[in-house]
Amino acid sequence: MFDYLVVGAGFAGSVLAERLAQGSGKKVLVVDKRPHIGGNAYDHYDEHGILIHKYGPHIFHTNSRDVFEYLSRFTAWRHYQHRVRASVDGQLVPIPINLDTINQLYGTRFTAFDLKQFFESVAEPRETITTSEDVIISKVGRELYEKLFRNYTRKQWDLDPSELDATVIARIPVRTNRDDRYFTDTYQVMPAHGFTRMFERILAHPNIKIMLNTDYREIEGSIAYDQVVFTGPIDEFFDYRFGKLPYRSLEFQFQTLNTDRHQPVAVVNYPNDYAFTRITEIKHITGQEHAKTTLVTEYPRAEGDPYYPVPRPENAALYRKYQELADATEGVHFVGRLATYKYYNMDQVVAQALTVYSRMTGLTRRELLGA
Ligand SMILES: Cc1cc2nc3c(=O)[nH]c(=O)nc-3n(C[C@H](O)[C@H](O)[C@H](O)COP(=O)(O)OP(=O)(O)OC[C@H]3O[C@@H](n4cnc5c(N)ncnc54)[C@H](O)[C@@H]3O)c2cc1C
Repeated sequence: MFDYLVVGAGFAGSVLAERLAQGSGKKVLVVDKRPHIGGNAYDHYDEHGILIHKYGPHIFHTNSRDVFEYLSRFTAWRHYQHRVRASVDGQLVPIPINLDTINQLYGTRFTAFDLKQFFESVAEPRETITTSEDVIISKVGRELYEKLFRNYTRKQWDLDPSELDATVIARIPVRTNRDDRYFTDTYQVMPAHGFTRMFERILAHPNIKIMLNTDYREIEGSIAYDQVVFTGPIDEFFDYRFGKLPYRSLEFQFQTLNTDRHQPVAVVNYPNDYAFTRITEIKHITGQEHAKTTLVTEYPRAEGDPYYPVPRPENAALYRKYQELADATEGVHFVGRLATYKYYNMDQVVAQALTVYSRMTGLTRRELLGA
């Protein structure tokens, strides 16, 4: 008899399993239909011995000290500052847009002060910001929108930015200095021995049993448990009663080259050329030293694993119907990006899982991290 069945061994399921076992002494069964733990953050060594991220590059960054300190129980870290370039007009320019992006694209020698004036002269202020197009054009004008954003977004979502919620790119930074870091969070680190090793340690408690290659429906009725933590797709849980929640997917193509470095930074975006969106050279991110290097190219797809919830008002309305059902379902806790139909970063999912645990136990954030 288990106290909890946890469906999904990604961040949401693993953190809750750990807290329930270590923090509350509960007996927990974790099931995942995939052949591995870690969910989308799973990494492994490919046939060349290079550590790769099976479901696309995952970079850990957070402003939350609680989340960072909690995960630090299970891993040492390496510092890593993420950098991205976009291939535009035959050049590789920094993303987010900064002083060098503009000077490279236009052959100018602007200072930070000039750049502020430049943005003011090209920006097209809009009275209300409702779509992603509004967000960008009101900040940097139409030309930069066309060069850097429009086609990338169309490839990624198969929708024009004018059809996508402002939230998709609401927080896009535009800098007038030369800072070319992709993130500016307080903690920007990668697990020193990879994500999977960290998950092994999160799940190592003797009260936690793990079943892989198992859809939870296969064991329903044959294994006894008291409550459920569900981190799979919420619409699937309710047998798609109100219809399917739409997701955008990706196909990852891996390629290993006989050279130790291929590109100057971890990620190069291709907004205007090719069917793929970006190429990642993973060794920049993991810090691994190896004579060869592995690249991963991302092709957006309509079908496949559910990766990105499509942020449109009708989908949010459909999710709310499922959420009402979830709220009325006793003994099942819905946690994580698939169960709450939201694009969350890893740290946000950890924070959400800790909050759910605090609700379950009545402990405060500080108390719940005590044990
Ligand atoms: C391409 C890509 C890149 C990303 N890059 C970053 C990044 O750089 N930084 C960052 O912070 N975040 C990134 N993320 C987000 C990150 O992947 C998520 O925040 C995190 O993985 C969510 O964890 P989760 O536990 O909610 O979901 P998941 O990791 O998806 O775990 C859910 C698990 O549930 C299992 N499951 C589902 N249904 C069932 C069932 N019926 N029975 C049994 N098991 C089931 C699944 O197999 C899966 O393992 C990225 C996401 C994508 C798609």
